[in-house]
Amino acid sequence: MPRPIRATIDPAAFRHNYLVAKRAAGKARAWAVIKANAYGHGLLTCAEAVRDVADGYAMLDFAEAVRLREAGFKQPILLLEGAFEPADIAEAGRLGLSLAVHDLEQIRMLETEHAAPLDLFLKLNTGMNRLGFAPADARMLVERLRASGAAKSLAVMTHFARADDDAGISDALARFDAAVAGLDLPQSVANSAALLRFPEAARDWVRPGIMLYGGSPMPSRASAEALGLKPAMQLESRIIAVQEIAAGESVGYGARFTADRPTRVGVVACGYADGYPRHAMTGTPILVDGQRTRTLGTVSMDMMACDLSALPGAGVGSRVVLWGKGLPADEVATAAGTISYELFCALAQRVPQGLGTVA
Ligand SMILES: *Cc1c(COP(=O)(O)O)cnc(C)c1O
Repeated sequence: MPRPIRATIDPAAFRHNYLVAKRAAGKARAWAVIKANAYGHGLLTCAEAVRDVADGYAMLDFAEAVRLREAGFKQPILLLEGAFEPADIAEAGRLGLSLAVHDLEQIRMLETEHAAPLDLFLKLNTGMNRLGFAPADARMLVERLRASGAAKSLAVMTHFARADDDAGISDALARFDAAVAGLDLPQSVANSAALLRFPEAARDWVRPGIMLYGGSPMPSRASAEALGLKPAMQLESRIIAVQEIAAGESVGYGARFTADRPTRVGVVACGYADGYPRHAMTGTPILVDGQRTRTLGTVSMDMMACDLSALPGAGVGSRVVLWGKGLPADEVATAAGTISYELFCALAQRVPQGLGTVA
């Protein structure tokens, strides 16, 4: 018998969520952001789920773009970090990829490499200070890209640092708008949070990521369910052992949980080597036989403990949901001091994945 842990990926939920993004985008087109193996959900599974409705796909890796083209996807594919080395320019030309252009070295490559003209997205830095050019240089760089002959089309983009928090996007968007005023180029600025919170960010192309997987981009403001999103991943396992401990006894490495009363402890076949966050403390929500309870003590590599004291019917073999239907990944992430993005992306290779219905 394999270990009872498994992940279920729900292509219909992914599709539903993409259509939610499309609705929010109005007339704008939507890149389905499927970087990082579709946030751990499987690149081709997710691409396939929206094959007939997706305006385009966005990712980082040339290898992922190659897989999509080999699987017959004809839509635009945007590489969000653009070219990494000169040979990438010709490769992008062969595959018909759109490239972000965020750095002078990339412009030099475009000027010197011979390739089929490309759809280019000039990236401006409006405050994230990660990738992109100073907004003041936008005009000059657009001229330079035009003169290079490397562009089949030009667009401008930026990425927001604070679309999900109180600061919002207004300062960054104002900087962007001032920089591109009069250029009359297509624009792309919105990630999931900006798309869902700020209608003015739904410019020509939007870039939803986390919402496609059923994660809220702003869990402290709105749950995924309240946003009309469905979970696209469920992680589940089973109870493989039960310990009855007395008051004063502890559970797990470091004895981080000590019982203040007699406690029935369920041992779950799931640990941090499966992708469950080790920093999830006692009290992180978990479902056993469909009922909500809490984790106990330190998560170990292959196992973790939960409280079965109020679940007398639960025992070895009981079904456990770590996140998915009835337990949003956002709640687990918040309890563990992280975000659903990290939980999804960390799903380990060793966890068998299958397709099914989660919601
Ligand atoms: C990852 C990414 C996105 C998607 O962001 P979400 O918060 O997951 O919606 C959009 N744009 C860029 C440039 C990205 O790197």
